[in-house]
Amino acid sequence: MRGLAAELFGRIGETGAAEWSLVVASPVIGSFLGVLIRRLPEGLPFARGRSRCEACRTALRARDLVPILSWLAAGGRCRYCGQPTGWFYPGVELAALGIAFAAVLIDGGQRAWLDCLLGWWLLTLGWTDLRSWLLPDVLTLPLIIAGLAAAFVFDPDQLTQRALGAALGYLSLAAMAALYRALRGREGLGGGDAKLLAASGAWLGAAALPQVVLFAALLALAIAAFLRLTGKRLGRHSAMPFGPFLALATWGLWLAGSID
Ligand SMILES: [Zn+2]
Repeated sequence: MRGLAAELFGRIGETGAAEWSLVVASPVIGSFLGVLIRRLPEGLPFARGRSRCEACRTALRARDLVPILSWLAAGGRCRYCGQPTGWFYPGVELAALGIAFAAVLIDGGQRAWLDCLLGWWLLTLGWTDLRSWLLPDVLTLPLIIAGLAAAFVFDPDQLTQRALGAALGYLSLAAMAALYRALRGREGLGGGDAKLLAASGAWLGAAALPQVVLFAALLALAIAAFLRLTGKRLGRHSAMPFGPFLALATWGLWLAGSID
């Protein structure tokens, strides 16, 4: 453990300016991802970013939109009407920052950029699913293509394995969803989950798919147990989106793959 900590701190010293730029840019990127997470499921235009306070509709100025800092400076409230602005935007911004930090510390170099690309993309998907129960095709399908393109460019030996991963990822969850529907007469898994697992396979390869599903299921069970302990009633018909867990498991295994 101490060896790992020493190694991580050593990495801070070795990290170059290009990689720190990922860390510095990450809250701004997180801010944009927050806009995507809120607007994509509603089909709203997102090109102009956040423009107004959601409570009083006052047009926000540049100084109200500095990631994390504006929120801290205003104490989490709108400067114009005093309504709490909620933790959603600072939350996504901090998560994007955490992803960049982990990428730079664990990998550094060229791979840190891939870590961030995948991490930010999965963050957007997982959080969208959590809020809206949707994994939009405009996010999942390009992530499959990006995974295969990354294999083609950086890891050509793995291309077959990763293309197979995309195909098997989709088919296995689609088959499970069809089986669930036949047995229980209702939807258990959405079609978006199958496409997300396909993306997972396109980044991690077919051999990693059982681990992805296992870790995602264990995480989901742990959260369900936690909710139960804190007094939330979960019945047979309660449901949780599976996308956030698939996203977490995928990014965790992607990072783990570069540690050994
Ligand atoms: Zn306001």
